Amino acid sequence: MDQLFVVNSRMQEILAGSLVKISTSIGKKLLNNKTQEIQRLNGIYKRLLTNAGVTMIEGEGRLAGPHEVEVTQPDGSVHKYTAKHILIATGSRAQRVKIPGEELAITSDEALSLEELPKRAVILGGGYIAVEFASIWRGMGATVDLFYRKELPLRGFDDEMRAVVAKNLEGRGIKLHPQSTLTELSKTDEGIKVVTDQGDVLVADVVLFATGRAPNTKRLNLAAAGVETDKTGAIKVDEYSCSNIPSVWAVGDVTN
Ligand SMILES: Cc1cc2nc3c(=O)[nH]c(=O)nc-3n(C[C@H](O)[C@H](O)[C@H](O)COP(=O)(O)OP(=O)(O)OC[C@H]3O[C@@H](n4cnc5c(N)ncnc54)[C@H](O)[C@@H]3O)c2cc1C
Repeated sequence: MDQLFVVNSRMQEILAGSLVKISTSIGKKLLNNKTQEIQRLNGIYKRLLTNAGVTMIEGEGRLAGPHEVEVTQPDGSVHKYTAKHILIATGSRAQRVKIPGEELAITSDEALSLEELPKRAVILGGGYIAVEFASIWRGMGATVDLFYRKELPLRGFDDEMRAVVAKNLEGRGIKLHPQSTLTELSKTDEGIKVVTDQGDVLVADVVLFATGRAPNTKRLNLAAAGVETDKTGAIKVDEYSCSNIPSVWAVGDVTN
């Protein structure tokens, strides 16, 4: 869904180059369009699943054994279901950085739901989510300061490509702060005051933590079936996506 924002920000950059005035209400419009699109897609997927004969049960699931899942439904009732095979696909959640004032920052979950587009954005992280939001907000006219640990963004990608991306980000007016991090956030009348480990002080409307995601396994009661995780909490799977327990499988961001 962030692609909707990427395309829109690029369009705005092009239009801004043509001296077309950008309305600040575009943020709400974009947000409405995104919500409508998600609802439309949800409807399509629900119909596809129903037509394929899938029974959908709303609620939070946890393991109760190698062949049993316990679901707490929205009304608080708890039901148990047994199955020959269980597939876990509970994804991951954004991680926050433990610094004073961390509650003032948002993660990518909230970044896609902002009603007002930020005029001054500070982003912590050098991965693709950080780079993507830097480009989106810069494209929509914000000043953007991007802080990351390494010399170049996009650790793990090809080094030549990383250098080209860094140059292009700077070329678009994004201020890069390699080998730097944020040490403190505080609320002021002007906005969020950001202090860095280099001694810089900035003021921003939005501070985004894009510092990685952790697998959603803590509340799954994996111990009930003896399912093993690695040190990050991700479910260990083999090349067929099977865990150490033959009846429990896992796919996607929840795996190692
Ligand atoms: C900002 C952003 C941009 C991205 N852009 C791209 C991109 O351009 N291309 C790309 O390939 N990937 C992208 N990704 C990554 C991609 O979104 C994930 O890799 C993918 O969604 C993982 O799918 P999943 O099914 O494992 O988990 P998810 O899509 O996270 O789905 C997990 C689901 O399980 C539910 N759940 C969790 N716990 C329970 C429970 N106990 N009981 C019941 N339900 C539960 C959650 O509510 C959620 O609905 C992006 C991610 C982010 C955050």
